Order: sequence, then C-alpha cells, then structure tokens
Amino acid sequence: MHELGIISALVHTVEGIVREEGLTEVEKIVIEVGELSGIVPSYLEQCYPAAVYKTFMENTKLELVVVPGIVKCRGCGRIFNAAANDLQCPGCGGQDLEILEGNDMIVREIVCR
Ligand SMILES: [Zn+2]
Repeated sequence: MHELGIISALVHTVEGIVREEGLTEVEKIVIEVGELSGIVPSYLEQCYPAAVYKTFMENTKLELVVVPGIVKCRGCGRIFNAAANDLQCPGCGGQDLEILEGNDMIVREIVCR
C-alpha cells in the first residue's frame, strides 16, 4: 500500500503552503484524485488518520473529489471516459489511449479556521 507514503508527501506539501501563506490551523483539505492516478480513494481515507497523527494536520478533515479519467483514442481521435468504457475506445475498439485528465492527485483547496 503506497497510500500512506502519498499522504505523508501530501502533509509535507500542505505544510509548505501553510507556512508560506502564514496560516495556522487547517480545518479541511480538498484533494482531487484522478480515476487513472492509481490511487484508491477508500485506501486514502483509511490511511489518512494514521498518516496525519501527531502532525499539524491531526485535526484536519480530508475531503476527496474523484476526477473522471478522460482519454483520447490514438486510433480514431475519440475522447471518452476511460473507466466507463473499460479502457477501450467505444468508437474503434482501440486500446492505444492518451490520458487527458484524471491521472494525478492535486490539492484543490485548503480551508483554514
Ligand atoms: Zn478509437
């Protein structure tokens, strides 16, 4: 499970932003997780309490927003939702796909008191 490492990195990123902006307590963070990022949102939620334990984010709520994986078929140029179509082009059946959206995880929002 690499989700624990992901959250540790996330805590680090948020900490950097919080310091830079001169913020103190973070009430909530909103994270966008792409469907094609390889990160499982439910694992992320499970790991979160342990990962932020004894950090400045111990009382910070985690909100996840799942971003659909949008891909483009290199064969026919069709753009579609990857997960809904089982990673196969509904137009030509091709599987040579270019990921346009949903392959990463980003911090969308940091909510402070
Ligand atoms: Zn196609």
